[in-house]
Amino acid sequence: MKILVLNCGSSSLKYQFIDMINEKVLAKGLCERIGLEASGIKHEGRKKIEKEIIMEDHKDAISSVIEAILDKEHGVIENINEVSAIGHRVVHGGEKFSESVVITNEIYNAIKECSELAPLHNPPNLMGIDACNTIMPNIPQVAVFDTAFHQSIPEYSYLYAIPLKYYEKYKIRRYGFHGTSHKYVSNRVCEITNKNIKDLKIITAHLGNGCSICAIDGGNSIDTSMGFTPLEGLIMGTRSGDLDPAIVSFIATKENISTKEVEDILNKKSGVFGLSNVSSDFRDLEDAASKGNKNAEIALKAFFYRVAKYIGSYVASLNGVDIIVFTAGLGENSAFARESILSYLSYLGISINTENNNTRGKEIKISTDESKVDVYVIPTNEELVIARDTYELCK
Ligand code: AMP
Repeated sequence: MKILVLNCGSSSLKYQFIDMINEKVLAKGLCERIGLEASGIKHEGRKKIEKEIIMEDHKDAISSVIEAILDKEHGVIENINEVSAIGHRVVHGGEKFSESVVITNEIYNAIKECSELAPLHNPPNLMGIDACNTIMPNIPQVAVFDTAFHQSIPEYSYLYAIPLKYYEKYKIRRYGFHGTSHKYVSNRVCEITNKNIKDLKIITAHLGNGCSICAIDGGNSIDTSMGFTPLEGLIMGTRSGDLDPAIVSFIATKENISTKEVEDILNKKSGVFGLSNVSSDFRDLEDAASKGNKNAEIALKAFFYRVAKYIGSYVASLNGVDIIVFTAGLGENSAFARESILSYLSYLGISINTENNNTRGKEIKISTDESKVDVYVIPTNEELVIARDTYELCK
């Protein structure tokens, strides 16, 4: 069975085509600038191709993907019917979805209802589903939600301390995101260590462009740092993470702008980018800091401190911790970031194996055998989780 995994953003589409017999990625790629000038596809299959194609919408983009995997010279299948099912990353499943589901008309409408909670994310996800319905109407489609893994978070932890009527009327609560990633790396660390997840307290740190931390007790998410939207929690590339909510109206009044504009600043112009005035990319920041840029140094320090603070608070939530996992772009690749964060946690009896920590992008234990808490780097693989869920629901 071969599964096409799609992750549709507003102007981009990431995809992987996976053979579930051996979970081998047959092809993968990215369509960029959909609906804009100079749109194009970067495809890796039997050959790497990069070309400009006019893509007016997601239907055009998905047609280009299908064309690439069917290509006579470098394609990986001969007939469209070899695509057994399509798995979609869907960002917001609200309170309706605690697991992946086959998309029916009813499910489609339920995802649409969740758009109010994720106006930037769910509509492009739906455009991807619409496009597949048009191009491949007979191929089953599955929705895999970023929020689903966190539906196990208890009420006392997901409710905000604002009048309860706002939860009842508008469903304002913590939802959490990156669920597929937290689920994958927590299960994967148990697989490689031959441990039963039911017996473990795990803290997973997904540190990439977006960043979130998750407290996992016996395999269930019991708390996570992103909240009603992906703005809460850790400092991120361009997102502020936690702040005093009074700051929003204070800036709006002082700058004579709307609260929506302030929210935009908190999403797009804040985080390590806003603090440093250098970049949102941690590689640029580490480089600038090493050359003596004080703003880059303080941005990194603030970032590391916030991560450590969250890990500390989740040790309290879990009443202990057995394993800490780092994942995503920064978590997988930056020895400096991991070491800086863990330096705050020596009170937990954590000691680092420096040689192992100085590797990048591979599954490895970076704590010493004497360490009281095991620390691992596990590269995330959200596409594989989507493919596996799709396979299970459609086989
Ligand atoms: P992701 O969202 O998981 O793709 O992560 C992207 C982020 O990871 C980039 O913005 C970089 O800041 C960070 N990153 C990737 N590679 C490295 C590296 N070698 N050193 C430091 N940061 C990295």
